[in-house]
Amino acid sequence: MNEGLNTRVIHHGESYAADTGTVMPPIFPSSTFAHGNPNGFDYTRSGNPNFRILDGVLASVEGCAHATVFASGVSAITAVVSQLKQGDLVLCEENLYGCTVRLFEQVFAKFGLRTEWLDFTQPQALDAIRTSQPAMVWLESPTNPLLKVIDLQEVCDVTRPLGIPVVVDNTFATALVQRPLELGATLSLTSTTKYINGHSDALGGAVCTNDPDWHQKMVFSQKALGLQPSPFDCWLITRGIKTLPLRLRQQMGNAAALADQLAKHPKVNWVRYPHRSDHPQHAVANRQMSAGGAIVTVSFNASQDQTYTLCKQLRWFTMAESLGGIESLICHPATMTHAAVSAAVKAKLGIDDGLVRFSVGCEDLTDLQQDLEQALEQLA
Ligand SMILES: *Cc1c(COP(=O)(O)O)cnc(C)c1O
Repeated sequence: MNEGLNTRVIHHGESYAADTGTVMPPIFPSSTFAHGNPNGFDYTRSGNPNFRILDGVLASVEGCAHATVFASGVSAITAVVSQLKQGDLVLCEENLYGCTVRLFEQVFAKFGLRTEWLDFTQPQALDAIRTSQPAMVWLESPTNPLLKVIDLQEVCDVTRPLGIPVVVDNTFATALVQRPLELGATLSLTSTTKYINGHSDALGGAVCTNDPDWHQKMVFSQKALGLQPSPFDCWLITRGIKTLPLRLRQQMGNAAALADQLAKHPKVNWVRYPHRSDHPQHAVANRQMSAGGAIVTVSFNASQDQTYTLCKQLRWFTMAESLGGIESLICHPATMTHAAVSAAVKAKLGIDDGLVRFSVGCEDLTDLQQDLEQALEQLA
């Protein structure tokens, strides 16, 4: 694999339509395939040309042997967790994505799976791996919404000699910015709904690995649990990923500039952005991530109502959940994602009423900057 990344995301390889000269792969909506076809397709729940095309591009971007696609990020998480059994212990980073927490606590707990929630920036978490010998370690970095950065290599150096598999949810960074498998993780998991597709018009998930046994487990989960994506969504995501490096470059440039602009404002308590020198894990972020990503989290010195009003006054940042698309979004956890969470839990998570998370898009930087400036003036 000598080609550069820009080339690899565009030239997806086999289109399974050899005699047409098609440049884009066709969409294969067929649920079933004639027995004995040369590519070994049989029934779409266990494989489809559009899955295989996307598998190939994702594995190439991640620089790994195998990728398996799923219907969503949550489907990919389900596929991995379903490989565990009753009584197994999973040591989880305490700031995992909310849907991952819900899946562990409200679904898999019923089947006897045990979880412990730890702060993996602390050495006690490494001690816990050694003493409790879990069946799996589940990490996410940077975390949502506070962008905490975990030293993935440090954790994997502890798990490797013990043979404990490590899962890293790499959705926020993407393989362009951070390479969990090269740092020692067993599985790199992504919600392709976010940056990989990048256009907020399809859901998908993927698990990347170099381990052939885990690859077989993912293929098994895809068909046995019915976690397969639709061929059309795979086709959209295959199209979306072609511009991933271009989009991310623009988004990350915008995000770094907006983080600096916000940090200077008197109404801002603090800004969290991994490649800024005031980030709490700045040294790890600089070593582990090739750039700072395109999410910026800010704490405004403002009440819940004032912060909500500020979000609503922005013209180019739509107030919405999700992230990673070409359009800028803003999320106010206190009234949106964490509205139902108790004050005590919010305090523990570090989510205050003035906290907002920006998912910075591809718009012109000056438009985003002016938009922020006008909204902040109203706050003052
Ligand atoms: C969105 C997201 C998920 C879930 O992905 P879906 O595609 O929405 O199912 C998991 N992890 C992280 C970090 C996410 O941002």
